[in-house]
Amino acid sequence: MAKIIDGKRVAASVIVTVKEAAAELERGKSVKPGLAVVIVGDDPASQTYVLAKSRMAKECGFASIQHTLPAETTQEELAALVKTLNEDTSVHGILVQLPLPKPLKSDPVIQAILPEKDVDGLNVVNAGKLAIGNLAGGLVSCTPAGAMVFVKRTHGEDLSGLSAVVIGRSNLFGKPMAMLLLAANATVTVAHSRTKDLASVCRNADILVAAVGCPELVKADWVKPGATLIDVGINRVPAPENGDGKSKLVGDVAFEECAKVAAVITPVPGGVGPMTLAMLMANTVIAAYRSVGQAAPDVC
Ligand code: NAD
Repeated sequence: MAKIIDGKRVAASVIVTVKEAAAELERGKSVKPGLAVVIVGDDPASQTYVLAKSRMAKECGFASIQHTLPAETTQEELAALVKTLNEDTSVHGILVQLPLPKPLKSDPVIQAILPEKDVDGLNVVNAGKLAIGNLAGGLVSCTPAGAMVFVKRTHGEDLSGLSAVVIGRSNLFGKPMAMLLLAANATVTVAHSRTKDLASVCRNADILVAAVGCPELVKADWVKPGATLIDVGINRVPAPENGDGKSKLVGDVAFEECAKVAAVITPVPGGVGPMTLAMLMANTVIAAYRSVGQAAPDVC
C-alpha cells in the first residue's frame, strides 16, 4: 500500500515558516506583507475561496485587504482598481479571484497586475521566467508550486534520471508543473486530450501528475509500480452510498486501486488542495521581501 501524503499537514508546515518569515520582515524592516484579494460578483464558491484566503492572510500576520465589486463592474473599473493596487506600496500581492462574471475578460486583468505583485503567478512575465528556469526571480503559480513541494519532499531537489508525466496542459497548472519538473532535471512528458494511448505514456512515469478534471481517469494498470502519484483533479460525483442526493469529491486518480501499485500517492480531498492556499501565502511573503530588496527565506 502506498504512503499517503497528508496535504493538510504539509500545508500547515509551510504556513508556520511563512508566519515566521512575515514576523521577521516586520521586526527587521517594519514591513507587513499586504495581500489584496479582489472578487467580482456573488458566486458562492468564489466567495468561500476568497474568505479562506483573507482569513489565512490574517493568520499569517499579513495586512489583508478585500475588495468586493458588484457583478456589473466594467472592465475599465476593474482595471482602475488593479492600477490603484499596483501603485499602493503597502500591497505586495494582488489576487483577482477567477473566473470573473461574464462579460469581463480575465486575461487583460491578469496581465495588468505588476509581475512582482502577481502572487497567482499567471502573468506572462512570471510564466516566462519559469519557462527559462528563472525560479528565483519570478512568482510561480500556487497549485503547481504546492504539488512540487510534495515531489521534492519525496524525491529531493534533483530529479535527474526520473521520468515525469503531467496529464493536462493548462496555463494554470499543466504547463507550469511541467516547467518545474524540468527545472529539477526530470525527463518530462506533457500528455493531454489529444495524446495517443495515454495509459502507456503514463506507465513510463516515475512521477505521474494528473490535472484533467476527469473523475478517476487514471487506473491501476496505468501506474508504474513504485511511482509517485500526484492527483490535482477535483471532481464532484454522486455518492448515493452516503444517502439520497449526496455527492463527494474525487480526484483524477482511482485512489483505492492505484494506491496498491504506487509507492506514494496524494488523496482528494486533503492532498494538493490545501497546498494552493499555503503557496499563495508563501508567494505573498516572497513578494514582500523582494519589495525591500531582500530574498525571502526558503518557506517550503
Ligand atoms: P483545464 O480544463 O484548464 O485543463 C484540463 C487539461 O486536461 C487540458 O489540458 C486537456 O487537454 C486535458 N484533458 C482533458 N481531457 C483529457 C483526457 N480524457 N485525457 C487526457 N487529458 C485530458 O483544467 P485545469 O485548470 O488544469 O484543472 C485540472 C483539474 O485540476 C480540475 O479538476 C481542477 O478542478 C483541478 N485543480 C485543482 C486545484 C487545487 O487543488 N487547488 C487548482 C487548479 C486545478
